[in-house]
Amino acid sequence: MRAFKGVGGDPVFFERGQGAYLWDVDGRRYIDYVGSWGPMIVGHAHPAVVEAVQEAAARGLSFGAPTAIETEMAELIRAFVPSIEKVRMVSSGTEATMSAIRLARGYTGRDRIIKFEGCYHGSGDSLLVKAGSSALTLGVPSSPGVPAALANLTLNLEYNNLAQVAEAFARHADEIACVIVEPVAGNMNCVPPIPGFLQGLRELCTRHGALLVFDEVMTGFRVALGGAQGLYGVTPDLTTLGKVIGGGLPVGAFGGRADIMDRITPDGAIFHAGTLSGCPVAMAAGIATLRQIGKPGFFEALAAKSRTLTEGLLGAARRAGVPLSTQSVGGMFGFFFTAEPAVTRFAQVTACDIDRFRRFFHAMLDEGVYLAPSAYEAGFVSAAHSDVDLETTVQAARRAFSRL
Ligand code: PMP
Repeated sequence: MRAFKGVGGDPVFFERGQGAYLWDVDGRRYIDYVGSWGPMIVGHAHPAVVEAVQEAAARGLSFGAPTAIETEMAELIRAFVPSIEKVRMVSSGTEATMSAIRLARGYTGRDRIIKFEGCYHGSGDSLLVKAGSSALTLGVPSSPGVPAALANLTLNLEYNNLAQVAEAFARHADEIACVIVEPVAGNMNCVPPIPGFLQGLRELCTRHGALLVFDEVMTGFRVALGGAQGLYGVTPDLTTLGKVIGGGLPVGAFGGRADIMDRITPDGAIFHAGTLSGCPVAMAAGIATLRQIGKPGFFEALAAKSRTLTEGLLGAARRAGVPLSTQSVGGMFGFFFTAEPAVTRFAQVTACDIDRFRRFFHAMLDEGVYLAPSAYEAGFVSAAHSDVDLETTVQAARRAFSRL
């Protein structure tokens, strides 16, 4: 993705970030809507986060042993996301989902898993089957190198299509360990769940003895303080986290029901370990970030920014006669070059005008606005985006649309 394979042209090399802005190596400033793919929810180089990192670093970078700060992070996560009764820290979202899948398989004694086409859960083997994000952008949604024996255990269904999930459970009764889902899909642009989809997954999993895994690596602390599960009122068995909880440093986490988490080593036999898990510097960055976003009104203000931006883009596109559709949930948003008013299915996403997206992306880049360099990624606003930044972006979009 960062090689600009999704949009063509030379990638930009960045040197510095502050608040809502990035500067490239030539000193050009951009309004940034990528936010390091999600973590920078309070903006780049937030003073409280930088200070926390500097203080932690001065005390030693990593000990490979228990720390109070790791426990503090666990308590914060638990307080905000009550379904997470116990949590393990890891070093990336990929590690979180891989570990959650192994745990679900070990706990249920079953091998098959259900995921949804266009969802991306990191680069673990079982999950690189019809994946979204960069795998989709680069044309390798199912990667060579993943053994067929493993890939065959991953059932890929259509996002927002509950009937397909019911059918899969009927066909593979007692074989499905878990359903893993992005509760708001952010790796095929931004596709929210249709009403009843997540609730239906919950019911089907419960009925068939499978675990429901919410991959909230992107949506956790991004769409609402309690994540998508808080927003939609659906309780998963396991949750994976990443991005925001690391504040920009490499962090992931997985957690959930205590009786399931207790099956992990050393209490149980399902193996998990990691040299840098719970690294105190990363914990400091994450905790400083969570403290900022835990302030009253934070998410209301963030969601309002997403709405201002998407409404502005929509208005600008209409004026130029360009068919556009937009969607946003909390601090994540998407826009689609399509005449369809709502995009709920993967096939609708891939049917959008990708060439037009590419031209729009480059026109915006020329205007000093850095959007995700792929039509299959959600965009992110941060608390640092001011009304002026949003208006500047909409003005730039007006000029860009008129040039399409
Ligand atoms: N799950 C989701 C929903 C993600 O969006 C991502 C990364 N974009 C991952 C997992 C993988 O995280 P990481 O890149 O930290 O391995």
